[in-house]
Amino acid sequence: MDLKEYVTIVEDYPKEGIRFKDITTIMDKGEVYKYATDEIVKYAKEVGAEIIVGPEARGFIIGCPVAYALEVGFAPVRKPGKLPRETIAVEYDLEYGKDTLTIHKDAIKPGQRVLIVDDLLATGGTVEATVKLVEQLGGVVAGCAFLIELSYLNGRDRLKGYDVTALVQY
Ligand code: 5GP
Repeated sequence: MDLKEYVTIVEDYPKEGIRFKDITTIMDKGEVYKYATDEIVKYAKEVGAEIIVGPEARGFIIGCPVAYALEVGFAPVRKPGKLPRETIAVEYDLEYGKDTLTIHKDAIKPGQRVLIVDDLLATGGTVEATVKLVEQLGGVVAGCAFLIELSYLNGRDRLKGYDVTALVQY
């Protein structure tokens, strides 16, 4: 299946000049969503993932069905103030300004093999911050999986030394 056929390009969203890759047209077709999930499940098995970690909100959409299929856990990475118990935080740079991501302090066991998933790899800032959170908790980043990679933004450069896969490239 050519997943790219099911990605919808939205011109000038969220602002002028951006060609947003809309994945809802993958998710709203059961067989396409399942195909994408199954591909990431295969990768997760290859890298020996013991838990899935995904940043809000689209990382949940991709990561949770993978965790379900593998019968492993899922740990959410969220913006500050969203997780109810003790968290650790990592600040990262955006195009303009900074943002912070958090994870529950007990979400990952030391030595646990973690697969980080998100819908899309752009500059790599989000996944780099997620890697830091996982490693601060003693987790081992077994791999990073994305539906889509915007390879012209060189996000992989921030992930040197880590195993990275993406199902669709632009
Ligand atoms: P990065 O931190 O790699 O620059 O940006 C990746 C994050 O921004 C991901 O969490 C992703 O959900 C979101 N993102 C950025 N651009 C797009 C896009 O065109 N489509 C989608 N679906 N998400 C995007």
